[in-house]
Amino acid sequence: MRIDLHCHSTASDGTDTPAELVRNAAAAGLDVVALTDHDTTRGYAEAIAAVPEGLTLVTGAELSCRIDGVSMHMLAYLFDPEEPELLAERELVRDDRVPRAHGMIAKLNELGVPVTWEQVARIAGDGSVGRPHVATALVELGVVPTVGDAFTADWLADGGRAFVEKHETDPFEAIRLIKGAGGVAVFAHPGAAKRGRTVPESAIAKMAAAGLDGIEVDHMDHEPETRARLRELAGELELLTTGSSDYHGSRKTCVLGEYTTDPEVYGEITRRATGASPVSGTGGGHSF
Ligand code: AMP
Ligand code: FE
Ligand code: FE
Ligand code: ZN
Repeated sequence: MRIDLHCHSTASDGTDTPAELVRNAAAAGLDVVALTDHDTTRGYAEAIAAVPEGLTLVTGAELSCRIDGVSMHMLAYLFDPEEPELLAERELVRDDRVPRAHGMIAKLNELGVPVTWEQVARIAGDGSVGRPHVATALVELGVVPTVGDAFTADWLADGGRAFVEKHETDPFEAIRLIKGAGGVAVFAHPGAAKRGRTVPESAIAKMAAAGLDGIEVDHMDHEPETRARLRELAGELELLTTGSSDYHGSRKTCVLGEYTTDPEVYGEITRRATGASPVSGTGGGHSF
C-alpha cells in the first residue's frame, strides 16, 4: 500500500486540476491520495468524480495557522466540509488571501517590480491565491529563475521585503474546529526550519493534549535528524506520524509518493474520522 496524505491542486497552489491529481496519483502507483488544498475544499467534487479504479481519495485541507507569531499548517482529514463553524473559519482565511495578495503586489511595485493583480489572478485561476502564484508571476517577469527562489528575505519569505501576513487561525481553535467537524488533525511539516521559525516542542505537547492526532514526519523539508527527533516526540506524546509528498504539480520539485504513510496509521486516521469517508474509485465512472 502506497499512501500519500498531502497534495495540492489548482483549487489552491498546485498545478494539477483535482481530476488530474487523482489520475496522476493512480499513474504514480499510489493506492491512497489525500487532496489537501490550502484553506479550501473546492476541489472535492471534481476529484471525487474522477477517482480511478484502484485509488482511494481522502478528502482534506491544509489550514493556515499561527501561534505566537509563528505561521504553521494544520492538515485536516475527512471532516464534514459543510460543518458551519469550520467552513466559516476556512472562508475567512481563504478570503483574506485576496487583499493580502494585493498588499504583496503593492510592495513589489514599490520595489520596482511591475507585477499586476491581473497577472497574479490569471495564474491563480479560481484557486485560493497564495505566495506561490505571486512567485510564479516573478518567474514570468524574469525577477527570479524559479518559484523557490522567490521565497527569500528579498522577496516573499516570511518577513521578506514583499511579504504580507494573512489571517491565520490559532492552532488550538483549528484543532477544536476540525474535531467538531468529525475530522482528524495532523500538524504539517512541523520541523520545516528552512521556511522560517518553527513551533517549539512545548507547544506541540499542548496541542497533543488539546486533541492533535498526529504530526507529519517524513517530508521533503525535514532533515534526517529532524525526522528522527519528531518520531521520538510523537512516541512521547502518543501522536500518529505521517509521511507525504506535499505535491504541488510543477510548482515544486517533489513528486507524488515521494514520502508515504504507514498503512496502520492510515487505518487509524480513517477509524478516528467521523465527518467523511474515503472515496474509492469504482472504475465505471459514477455509481448510482
Ligand atoms: P501562503 O499560504 O500564500 O503564505 O504560501 C505558502 C505556500 O508557499 C506553501 O504552502 C508552499 O506551497 C509555498 N512555499 C513555502 N515556502 C516555499 C519554498 N521555500 N519554496 C517553494 N514554495 C514554498
Ligand atoms: Fe502550498
Ligand atoms: Fe504546508
Ligand atoms: Zn502543503
